[in-house]
Amino acid sequence: MNMKIDPWSALNIDDYSKLFDEFGIQPFDDMVREIENPHKFMSRKIIFGHRNYDRITDAMNNNKPFSVMSGFMPSGKVHLGHKMVMEEIIWHQQQGADAFVGIADRESHAVRGMSWEKCSDIGINEYIISLIALGFEPNGHIYFQSKSEQVKDLAFELSSKANYSELSAIYGFTGETNVAHMLSAVTQSADILHPQLEEYGGPKPAVIPVGSDQDPHIRLTRGLGHKMNMFKIEGREDKDGNKYFSIRSKAAPEEALKELSQRIPDKTKLFEGHVDVFSADNFESLMKVVQDVELEFGGYAFVPPSSTYHRFMSGLQGGKMSSSVPESYISLTEEPKGAAKKVKRAKTGGRITLEEQKKLGGEPEKCSVYEMFLFHLVDDDEELAQIYTECREGTRMCGHCKALAAERTEKFLKEHQELREVAKDRLDEYGL
Ligand code: SF4
Repeated sequence: MNMKIDPWSALNIDDYSKLFDEFGIQPFDDMVREIENPHKFMSRKIIFGHRNYDRITDAMNNNKPFSVMSGFMPSGKVHLGHKMVMEEIIWHQQQGADAFVGIADRESHAVRGMSWEKCSDIGINEYIISLIALGFEPNGHIYFQSKSEQVKDLAFELSSKANYSELSAIYGFTGETNVAHMLSAVTQSADILHPQLEEYGGPKPAVIPVGSDQDPHIRLTRGLGHKMNMFKIEGREDKDGNKYFSIRSKAAPEEALKELSQRIPDKTKLFEGHVDVFSADNFESLMKVVQDVELEFGGYAFVPPSSTYHRFMSGLQGGKMSSSVPESYISLTEEPKGAAKKVKRAKTGGRITLEEQKKLGGEPEKCSVYEMFLFHLVDDDEELAQIYTECREGTRMCGHCKALAAERTEKFLKEHQELREVAKDRLDEYGL
């Protein structure tokens, strides 16, 4: 049988090509080569796209400071989808990132009407305990939006740069939308940008691992960060084709522009409202001077956040995973034997009869059991490739696969829940 063996082909990246074309998200393929030991989500193309991840590889490969940030809205059970984001945060923390995890209780309160008490209970007992059990280290930061003065203050500042039309275009707000809901959208941008505040070491690259549907938040935040900065740097060309940078500001005091023109080692020319920089061939050092002056004059100097985009697992019964359909997902806190039974009832890519399966082979691309292996249950690439090949060649039967996936799910949940018990006694190490 002539067959293309590609164990990652279950990932139909074409579905996401719109994101590449319309919104300028870059394919992640090129980035993987820059990373010494990529996470399996990267090498398996589960993370398929990024914005400015080159800033993160540069920081990782040259021991420069960077951060990773993501958040969870406390609304229900912590499940395998959340585990993906948690693993991405923890992996970046292990690569040297200052790691931030926000519990979006303001959002849950404003959007879902969840009481503060419930937000706190779900935030800790579902999300935070699993995050710690999965390996988040105490040198990172876990916080609730409602308790972080920095996030709340920054959200207020950012809201002065966000207007109703922009927010309603992104989030579909109407005249009926309450103001708290709007503020919670801007609070998400504050979550993303606050690791760059002075108290956390100032401006630096930051990566936000998100699902592919979250890009609007990233676009909004990049735009707001840009608007907040005191200076804007624009690449220009004079009439003779010579390139130069123009650093402009409507808000900077005159002394800030003067200071800037004196500190830049390249040839500069000071004008009203802008400084032109000629022969600057090191953009990074130019940025550093600009950021220093911005901070010294009490301004902001945000580096636009980078992001990675992962695709989603389908529901166990096909279609989308949905929190209102418990059969469609595995929660990290559910009873392991019950979860194993769900996996045994999952939709596969098998044929109707054994004969057909042997003759035609199965379709791992359409199989939620295969997705469980790919995303969570098989770390060894060779083992995964073998499952894929045997399925396609018709030498593997779904009953066997389901039994294996159910057994591993049960084992993983048992172990994870034991680790959760240990994590419950460690909350004070995280300032909680
Ligand atoms: Fe899925 Fe395994 Fe059946 Fe193939 S053999 S369709 S991978 S359950």
